[in-house]
Amino acid sequence: MSIRFAVTLDPLHIGAGGYRLGRVDNTIVRDAGSGLPKVPGSSLAGVARSYLTQILTGEEQERAQACITSTDKDKGNCGKCLACRLFGYAASGRQTKSHIGLLRFYDGDIVAFPVSTIAGPVWVTSPSALAQVLPPENVPALDRDVLLIDGPLPAKMSKINVGWLYLDAEVAENALQSLRRALGDDASRRFARLALAPDWLFAELVNSNLEVRTSVSIDPLTGAAENGKLFTYEAIPAATLLAFDVEIDRARCAQAGEAGGSDPVDADEALRLLDRALELCGVLGMGGMCTRGFGRVRFLGGA
Ligand SMILES: [Zn+2]
Repeated sequence: MSIRFAVTLDPLHIGAGGYRLGRVDNTIVRDAGSGLPKVPGSSLAGVARSYLTQILTGEEQERAQACITSTDKDKGNCGKCLACRLFGYAASGRQTKSHIGLLRFYDGDIVAFPVSTIAGPVWVTSPSALAQVLPPENVPALDRDVLLIDGPLPAKMSKINVGWLYLDAEVAENALQSLRRALGDDASRRFARLALAPDWLFAELVNSNLEVRTSVSIDPLTGAAENGKLFTYEAIPAATLLAFDVEIDRARCAQAGEAGGSDPVDADEALRLLDRALELCGVLGMGGMCTRGFGRVRFLGGA
């Protein structure tokens, strides 16, 4: 596993597409099994490819620019630039071959989710959420319906409101030390009070505390709200801890002439470039409504 942790700086809306009848009109993508919101690997790959072309220099940049500005049908599929080699390309126009990329992007998951409580914000996680980012031996067990709080609680507080739920709480210093170690000291300090909840409760806590916003379409002629154009949408809130697994196919990187290029790809250099491209997600954002205060995601480094 090559895990990259990230924290949302704004609400993050990766739309599921279409309109639904229910609590909100525009829903976000969810995992079918757990019901938890997730960030599709394809969404991250898309922005990473776009931002990579912005940070390349010299000859590599010229090639990547020529690829995405081509007026031919092979636009974005030249097969020679670094973006095509790392992210893949398809047969189109003059390009007769297609190739999968050297990078593999897997879906990003919520690891710790911020919920307000009477004692201040708490970042809730669960054994299953931690199992996605920690080795099995470092995943703490929890076999009772209680919230284990890793951090200070006001004296004598044995129950805590987490969103609309009222739960038994216990202070368990260092219960989430393995997650803090994986995050590193700097990143760990962002999550002052972590809490471990049972798996069955985690999806409920997340889904009932998502950000829900209401917007209305404005008629460009009158500058006023259009009738019947009120809509609601949900988003992963700011300050959520996410984890993405991104792998690189080292064996294929080393094969000269592979993926349409003439030179082998230096895998470590490619991962350094990827990290610099992902840094731009903290400035330019990803997902929907990036121009309206949504979407910035700061990558924190890996485990
Ligand atoms: Zn290309």
